[in-house]
Amino acid sequence: MKLDQIKLDVDYFEFDEKFYQKLKPTPLKNPKLVSFNKEACDLIGLDYKECETQDFINFINGSNVLEGSVPYSMVYAGHQFGYFVPQLGDGRAINLGAVNNWHLQTKGSGLTRYSRSGDGRAVLRSSIREYLMSEAMHGLGIPTTRALAIIDSDTFAHRDWEEESCSIVMRMSPSWIRVGTFEFFARTKNKQAIFQLADYVIKQSYPHLENEEDKYEKMFYSLVDKTAELLALWQTYGFQHGVMNTDNFSMAGLTIDYGPYAFMDYFEKNAICNHTDGEGRYSYNNQPYVARWNLMVLADTLKGICDENKLMSYLNTFLPQHENVYLKMMNKRIGLDATKSGNSNLHLILELLGSLEASKMDYNVFFYRLTNLKSFDDLSSILDIAVFQEPLRKWFESYEKVCEEQDTSFETRSEIMKKVNPKYILKNYIIQEAIEKAHEGDYSGVVDLLKIAQNPFDEHIKFERYAQVTPMKFSNMKLSCSS
Ligand code: AMP
Ligand code: MG
Ligand code: MG
Repeated sequence: MKLDQIKLDVDYFEFDEKFYQKLKPTPLKNPKLVSFNKEACDLIGLDYKECETQDFINFINGSNVLEGSVPYSMVYAGHQFGYFVPQLGDGRAINLGAVNNWHLQTKGSGLTRYSRSGDGRAVLRSSIREYLMSEAMHGLGIPTTRALAIIDSDTFAHRDWEEESCSIVMRMSPSWIRVGTFEFFARTKNKQAIFQLADYVIKQSYPHLENEEDKYEKMFYSLVDKTAELLALWQTYGFQHGVMNTDNFSMAGLTIDYGPYAFMDYFEKNAICNHTDGEGRYSYNNQPYVARWNLMVLADTLKGICDENKLMSYLNTFLPQHENVYLKMMNKRIGLDATKSGNSNLHLILELLGSLEASKMDYNVFFYRLTNLKSFDDLSSILDIAVFQEPLRKWFESYEKVCEEQDTSFETRSEIMKKVNPKYILKNYIIQEAIEKAHEGDYSGVVDLLKIAQNPFDEHIKFERYAQVTPMKFSNMKLSCSS
């Protein structure tokens, strides 16, 4: 489809006007295309050649409004670091409408009614991070929002004592409703509004429940299931979200709002990636517990339309479900088939985590090298990249024993591992290189990393160095929230 053949569909104006604001995006000066995403074009049926036109750039920039589009921003509330903030909202994101059930949203399109003290802008650095990471997560099979394109500009914003160029990412998602949206609707004490929002979420994300009895309870159960699995995948790959506030928590069970996230470099169970998270509320190990807490906040907003006891008792299945998926995935990462052996290998996996931490081992590089291990007699390809070798050497003794007991070969294990252990993980220092190049006006690093992000299991000969251990000076660094 050509760009001007796309018709956007807006369905949010069935809600009361206090839940959104219709408004025009404020375009950036001299917009420049940084990168566009062919996979996302396919999802919305857009001919990707259109992305090379000025009309497309203007579309991302908000000055070319497509047919049917009525731009609006949404309000929500949320618990930020555990504290309730009664009004947040799309302070810099503007929804344009949906095509093929993908709701398009620009991030960085200027002030809205919900901007509070912000400037409504997103700087290039943070936009590149969102653009690449949503695609990297998808590449790994982790549920996430997607991104269509990113532009840079000659508009500047002040961040951390510097002027940075402003940027816009066009994000797309089957749903932009957050736990925080329910918190805002619940505040109005208008039960009808909560019913309406729940129906909207069911239509958007759980259409199979539409005609079911107890559909609101079942919506909650489905989200519990999806979130348990989502968190298991985050933990499996060492992904840290960084800001798991309830307003950054999707009602569709997707990873949303990429800020100071990280794929951990060396394994550290209490790793904290967000510089402002002094107490480690959102540390790696806490993530599943925070997710459960966020779901409890949601349950509280639903008590007017659901049987609260049922919600709370279903919530008790969250951690067991989470552990179940996590153990299955971790078994695969070490080439074992837990379903076949009837053994969750829990002890072996816990021992591995301890050894990885004690040996200061690059987490994802470890699994990639394990995938290619040919013999227990020569562990040098792995031990040579550990800071301390002994803890891992000991783990390999346990592993070898289990492999013998469960009668598996290097070939079988490698086949299992190849499917889950990528060669490439977009670690922060890699993304930072592309950002620094982009600041010089060279966007080719972003374009290259998009390819790697979307195909992390493939070989990318030119980028062999990205499959190596993170240099220690860049390992497990904390990131600022400014964006
Ligand atoms: P975030 O940390 O991006 O999840 O944002 C938290 C809240 O602050 C949301 O309500 C955002 O819309 C808002 N916000 C963040 N940055 C800005 C900005 N530069 N201008 C306006 N609002 C913002
Ligand atoms: Mg947010
Ligand atoms: Mg692919």
